[in-house]
Amino acid sequence: MTTEFRVPSDVLDALRRYDRVLIAAHARPDGDAMGSCLALAWALRSIGIDAHVFNEDGVPGYLRFLSLPGPVLTSVDQLPCEPQLIVVLDCGDRARVGEALQPLMDRVPTVDIDHHLANPNFGTAANWVEPSASATGELVGLIAEALRAPLHGALGEALYVALSSDTGNFSYGNTTPGALRLAARLVEEGVDIASLREKLENNWSEAKLRLWGRLMGETRILESGKLAAALITRGLLAETGASREDSEGFVEQLRRLSGVRVALLLREDEKDGTLLTKASLRSSGDDNVRDTAARFGGGGHRNAAGATIHLDAEKSLDAMLPFIRSVWDKRL
Ligand code: 5GP
Ligand code: MN
Repeated sequence: MTTEFRVPSDVLDALRRYDRVLIAAHARPDGDAMGSCLALAWALRSIGIDAHVFNEDGVPGYLRFLSLPGPVLTSVDQLPCEPQLIVVLDCGDRARVGEALQPLMDRVPTVDIDHHLANPNFGTAANWVEPSASATGELVGLIAEALRAPLHGALGEALYVALSSDTGNFSYGNTTPGALRLAARLVEEGVDIASLREKLENNWSEAKLRLWGRLMGETRILESGKLAAALITRGLLAETGASREDSEGFVEQLRRLSGVRVALLLREDEKDGTLLTKASLRSSGDDNVRDTAARFGGGGHRNAAGATIHLDAEKSLDAMLPFIRSVWDKRL
């Protein structure tokens, strides 16, 4: 296992060269995507760079306790001025940033910093892709150290959220010694992990509790127990009063069932009036769900991947089944 990464000099040079920097991550951001963006913005601001964070979906509700270095922009119209550099974090491909930013990315230099497999190094100014990094936050932590940004306060909290989110509280196989060392540094710097855990985990709404109860009850155990699949239809969201965000983390529960090799959560969504389904896949060890997600235009990591499918949840399950079987039946 790699124990330490080094920030490439062209990445550091690009970050230090410009006064106005825009930082973006994938739409529908998770803890690593948003935590990394906020931490990098704090770090760049600490050395006098005018850094802003962009995400077309804004900050998810469960992360709104984090202190922001400025408003998180949700539309390019809100940009105070044209950035000189765009740093894209935690995006396996450039399309995941969302459509709104694509024209700006065509004309402004970009730096791509990420840990997804098969990231094509889409940055035009510099790239730093480390698939064995536990989180993009691990790489941003090294950047913050290289820039001599203080790791306490809001920056430290954002980094901790990024690391703990992608490592399942430092317990998944992707947890590197570097992530643990960074977490130790954050604690030394005064980051209060018990208080963060309280804000991150012990804040459920009743609707979320009811949704998880329904999902537990209705989970389908398929393929002789090797696949556990849960479907979140628009109807189920309406009945429970839960939001899409309330399903965040549920797929991990499906992996707990003994004998399950692939956990699948299918959540219906709507974009521009079209029904689609967001698939989240989880596995363990050598079982590769990234290849399954890639068959549907998605991606991710070997044991955690996702894709968007232009079908309802039920039909998405039918479409995915043959490719899920290939995880254990290599002949397919
Ligand atoms: P989640 O299931 O939590 O949404 O995502 C699991 C992993 O797969 C994350 O690393 C995420 O970035 C990646 N992922 C999720 N959806 C997509 C997708 O539509 N395309 C790609 N390339 N990666 C995805
Ligand atoms: Mn990540």
